[in-house]
Amino acid sequence: MSDCLFCKIVAGEIPSKKVYEDEYCYAFEDIAPVAPVHILFVPKEHISSAGDITPENSAVVGKIYEAVAKVAKEKKLDGGWRVVSNCGPDAGQTVFHLHFHLIGGRPLGVMVSE
Ligand code: AMP
Ligand code: ZN
Repeated sequence: MSDCLFCKIVAGEIPSKKVYEDEYCYAFEDIAPVAPVHILFVPKEHISSAGDITPENSAVVGKIYEAVAKVAKEKKLDGGWRVVSNCGPDAGQTVFHLHFHLIGGRPLGVMVSE
């Protein structure tokens, strides 16, 4: 998608701090971290949100979770971590390219607030 921030990051047109990359996904540091570790995992293929996952494109979600588990181990998040994917405006989604936040490195409190 030509006008998508995360497509541009995947393409290297906008700089990012890369953490991980494979055939299916790209991971980079969130520009406004909420915890010592805050990494965004995105599919290389443009999918707008979790609401657009279909039988045809869902395999990438498993690939992303494999990458998340690998990076969580590398970052030594042995005490635990959280994955969040906001879908739609009510959930606070601000970038409409599917992404999974990996957050950790401190106690994270309750699962859902407000
Ligand atoms: P969400 O609100 O769930 O859509 O998450 C979007 C995330 O993208 C936010 O946590 C932002 O801080 C992050 N973000 C926005 N622009 C950039 C960027 N250029 N590089 C890295 N992270 C970004
Ligand atoms: Zn995109």
